[in-house]
Amino acid sequence: MSVANIELNDGNSIPQLGFGVFQVAPTETAAAVREALKVGYRHIDTAEMYGNEREVGEAIRDSGLERGEVYVTSKLNNGYHQPDDARAAFDRTLRELGSDSLDLFLIHWPLPTLYDGDYVSTWQTLEEFKRDGRARSVGVSNFQVDHLERLAAETDTVPAVNQIELHPYFLNEEVRAYDEEHGIATEAWSPLAQGAVLDDPVVTGVAERVGKTPAQVVLRWHIQLHNIVFPKSVTAERIRENFEIFDFELEPGDLEAISGLDKGEAARIGPDPDRFAYVPS
Ligand code: NAD
Repeated sequence: MSVANIELNDGNSIPQLGFGVFQVAPTETAAAVREALKVGYRHIDTAEMYGNEREVGEAIRDSGLERGEVYVTSKLNNGYHQPDDARAAFDRTLRELGSDSLDLFLIHWPLPTLYDGDYVSTWQTLEEFKRDGRARSVGVSNFQVDHLERLAAETDTVPAVNQIELHPYFLNEEVRAYDEEHGIATEAWSPLAQGAVLDDPVVTGVAERVGKTPAQVVLRWHIQLHNIVFPKSVTAERIRENFEIFDFELEPGDLEAISGLDKGEAARIGPDPDRFAYVPS
């Protein structure tokens, strides 16, 4: 039972299964991350927007693991897209995490309707962090095909990853296909559709037949599709359950049946990246 590493286009690699801490209260974060590290997760996905980077750093330090044994991702919050603000925000993220470097730093949202549509200079600022070695890899989140095309045309670095909403009800196929074609690893956020897919009869049917839980079946589906995932839970049993997905395999027919649940755009849980313009105050 082991988590595979996915090779990134910059030569680094990332554990395919991690642990996400969106909507985990700061007061609960250190305990949840400690539990995840105890179970065996070695990849944590946080963001400035989640308000719990400090507690993630604390839990890693408390775990007795070497800092280099745990892969950490954080993200640039929406208010800091201008280059000087991005530089200050990245410094703060490192300080909060208590680390002098980060494995992966992402632009959280493209915000094409803000900053005169300029996510290009924001991306060029992340390229600086990569050049100076403080971010081992840099990537984007919620970028649509036209945003990625613009980075390809106007900058020197192809994002290592694109973290997008992706689950059986929303395959986000166009973006995923672009990523694949251009060597960008796809990270699937809300891999369980925040629980919404877990009582779907197709999923529960497969789960019963293979003797696994619906969450394990959906996470296994992601793994076999080569998505990078980091399900979130604060419950110890679920944290463990979500990690125990490497002792079985889904057959092609099961993969197809689950992919067949796609309902397209209508099934997005999160906002439309082309319109999302929220800047936390
Ligand atoms: P998720 O799909 O991981 O669902 C989490 C929820 O599913 C839990 O709150 C719980 O209710 C349920 N759940 C988890 N494990 C379960 C189990 N074994 N059995 C039954 N129910 C279970 O949703 P998420 O937290 O939104 O996404 C995961 C991670 O993706 C986040 O923590 C964050 O790191 C990342 N994310 C990124 C963005 C972005 O814009 N980049 C947006 C949302 C989430």
